[in-house]
Amino acid sequence: KVTRRPLMAGNWKMNLNHLEANLLVQKLAASLTEKQLTDVETVVLPPFTDLRSVQTVVEGDKLLIGYGAQDLSPHASGAYTGDISGPMLAKLGCTYVVVGHSERRAYHHEDDGVVNAKVKAALTHGLTPILCVGEGLDVREDGRHVAHCADQLVAALSGITAEQATKIVVAYEPIWAIGTGKTATPDDAQEVCRAVRQRLVEIYGQDTADQIRILYGGSVKASNIAAIMSQTDVDGGLVGGASLDAEEFAQICRFP
Ligand code: PEP
Repeated sequence: KVTRRPLMAGNWKMNLNHLEANLLVQKLAASLTEKQLTDVETVVLPPFTDLRSVQTVVEGDKLLIGYGAQDLSPHASGAYTGDISGPMLAKLGCTYVVVGHSERRAYHHEDDGVVNAKVKAALTHGLTPILCVGEGLDVREDGRHVAHCADQLVAALSGITAEQATKIVVAYEPIWAIGTGKTATPDDAQEVCRAVRQRLVEIYGQDTADQIRILYGGSVKASNIAAIMSQTDVDGGLVGGASLDAEEFAQICRFP
């Protein structure tokens, strides 16, 4: 297995106010040793309104925890009421931003073009996009899941150079496994993560593809993370529900 530093990213979704956010970050940091936080990159993705206070805690206590946002605007500034831009996130010390989460695609009608523009905006402003791809149950039952995810990947990476691609993280999140308690089997996760890597090899070559981390997301828990992480092409987890519990998420980060 090529060595890539494992990444565990906690997607809090629309949960926790800024006071609760600070508590969770402090509990999480206290549950993990410096070595564990060095071996496994640990990142939280709170709502926008929590980011300033998370920054204060992380910087003030020098915590080895990264943080980022769950979305960004494709635009840098301007008349886009309600939106938040890449430069705003970068100024708050964010290093990551989720792009193309299935909930954004479904509830905010984000298509591949929007996702591609957001990937470009993130990279332009020095943020690492966590680019989500994944199929719904109908697509999986038709056996089209690999092609579907590869198509989403290719569309999202349109116009992205190999050098830029090394700064991207891809997350495979089967929609039927998100928040349902139904985890993909380790083999299911590997099948799509391997296909994603293969497609990255075709576009950018082996060296670049080997540097890109691919996460699995969908009902990841402390009890199933080790088996998922044992797969060759799975380099980490994008964790929703289980990341809201400091001890559970810490256990996930301690998987090795
Ligand atoms: C997610 O939404 O990114 C996710 C993986 O959620 P959950 O872990 O709750 O299934």
